[in-house]
Amino acid sequence: MLFTNSFSDSDVLRYVNEMASFIKAQREAFAPQAAPLSPEEMAAFKPFFSEAILNTTQFCKKTDGPVETPDFVKELNDRGIAISLERMEAVTLMDVVVSYRDLGPHIRFHELVHAVQYQKLGLKQFANKYVRGLLTRGSYEKIPLEASAHLLEEKFAKNPSEIFSVEADVQRWINENKF
Ligand SMILES: [Zn+2]
Repeated sequence: MLFTNSFSDSDVLRYVNEMASFIKAQREAFAPQAAPLSPEEMAAFKPFFSEAILNTTQFCKKTDGPVETPDFVKELNDRGIAISLERMEAVTLMDVVVSYRDLGPHIRFHELVHAVQYQKLGLKQFANKYVRGLLTRGSYEKIPLEASAHLLEEKFAKNPSEIFSVEADVQRWINENKF
């Protein structure tokens, strides 16, 4: 089913803007409570990420449940799009990762991939590609930005000693226009 048919260009633009504003506001709210990776985690992730990403991405555990679902997500759900902030283990808001439970290394890896995507695309373009991916594919798991993060997370989980560059991989997806 092609979901894009039921969304007008102005709908899409509005969702992109609302998502970007939501990310920005939530990032500001959680940044003061966020902390960097531990030295052990930095060492474990070093073969895969740049120092800049590892040094600037901060993590924050929210103790009172998942991030509150914004109105535009409720509206998308009503229109048949499958996405739930409550089902996510963590959400990456540019350089701040918010979770509501302790995260294992592979989930942290996944969120760091999103941090690289933000760094390379910028907030506006990230939101644009995320929303368009969601509306074209119809569900969260199929958004190319998510599928890519998931693939790299799996690759890392399967064999953490097999080194690869997340930034090179994200750049390749950008160059090939796959997001
Ligand atoms: Zn993700």
